[in-house]
Amino acid sequence: MAVASDSGYNYIYGGIMQHKIEMRKAIAELDGDEMTGILWQLIKEKLILPYVDLKTEYFDLGIKNRDLTNDEVTLESARAIQRLGVGVKCATITSNTERQKEYDLKTLHPSPNATIRAILDGTVFRKPISVSRIRPTVSTWKKPIIIGRHAYGDVYKNAEMLISGPGKVELVFTGTEDMNGQKTEKRITVAEMKGSGIVQGIHNLDESIRNFARACFLYAIDEKIPLWFAAKDTISKTYDGRFKELYNEIYETEFKEKCEKAGVSYFYTLIDDAVARVVKGEGGFLWACKNYDGDVMSDMIASASGSLAMMTSVLVSPSGAYEYEAAHGTVQQHYYRWQKGEKTSTNPAALIFAWTGALAKRGELDGTTELTGFARKLEKAVLNTIEEGEMTADLARISDPVPEISLDSREFIDAIVKRLEK
Ligand code: NAP
Ligand code: MG
Repeated sequence: MAVASDSGYNYIYGGIMQHKIEMRKAIAELDGDEMTGILWQLIKEKLILPYVDLKTEYFDLGIKNRDLTNDEVTLESARAIQRLGVGVKCATITSNTERQKEYDLKTLHPSPNATIRAILDGTVFRKPISVSRIRPTVSTWKKPIIIGRHAYGDVYKNAEMLISGPGKVELVFTGTEDMNGQKTEKRITVAEMKGSGIVQGIHNLDESIRNFARACFLYAIDEKIPLWFAAKDTISKTYDGRFKELYNEIYETEFKEKCEKAGVSYFYTLIDDAVARVVKGEGGFLWACKNYDGDVMSDMIASASGSLAMMTSVLVSPSGAYEYEAAHGTVQQHYYRWQKGEKTSTNPAALIFAWTGALAKRGELDGTTELTGFARKLEKAVLNTIEEGEMTADLARISDPVPEISLDSREFIDAIVKRLEK
């Protein structure tokens, strides 16, 4: 058992005084809601604090505190990630009218993830945690499929309107004034509406698309895996066509040689062709997706790979900041059961991997190899625990062989501690 010493830097294990691992710089810690908030504390208490002299800048992104601070805390936390270079985030409730009643909120706030992504820009990489006992639903998949989701613009930053009746819908661009005080204007007809309906305007920025491409090439070279990018440029010749064109530009001008050197291939295809190939392929590649495709496809990959609780997620910003989180939500239904005093078998694996991702990156950036080493050891302990047949109910259901019993969250974390201390 680990015991904090007076100095706070040491712990006793097996009768021997051990040193806690040093952190040079802090990471931004974004706490969250419901069941994931409960697991957050447990993970820190049992798996991190006994071993690491943890340095964090703490932000409470729980829904009550976001409401109390008029969401200022979310903006502050995003700025802290940018400043510190590394952040770790718990799942948070996105408010809606039901949640407003439940938590007695002053108003509805935007999704914290959308707010943070809009500030950091960047690309979200989602990678399933693979264990041999859990076989993907798609029998041909032998290696994980990683989704690289562009995290800026498109439908997530749209303007939309209900149209009450017949009329003309136009798309208008008005440039800022040039040196002669002139403004350029471009105008096209979207539709001659015959009756009531709906209209939506979306946008993206060349520089954000270029950064998306750069982040994906860097990730693929880092992991030495092929990169696929898919869009629908046959239908959306200008919008999706621009994505394809810029991706190609970045490949040709910045990454072609590096990819060839690393043995990494780049492949563009139509999104529907990509989907068809994905379900027939072996996996083991990075699939770069536009914002909406990435949102939808990462849930498909997560669920087909096993459990939503086994999907890790990292936002890589072009400024070089990294935000780690689990891909799942706050596991609301489990929380209601926990509140009634029932034991819950909520799987903390992806949340633990969010912490290890952040600590490993901190170690890598600061040159503290001991910290990175600890993070990798903790990941191994999680994997070994599951491989050796101790797991939560979501995994026990799909494990082959099926374990005799499944553990509740606390028992599972204790089983990880046992392996960590081996
Ligand atoms: P969810 O929290 O991901 O849970 C959906 C279902 O997936 C759960 O009911 C559970 O299934 C299973 N599940 C997810 N994570 C699990 C885990 N760690 N261990 C075991 N089972 C797990 O999604 P939701 O219920 O749609 O959303 C709940 C809240 O989370 C919402 O308020 C939403 O706004 C928020 N949310 C936040 C984020 C984020 O912060 N990144 C992302 C998504 C959603 P069973 O009930 O069958 O056990
Ligand atoms: Mg989604």
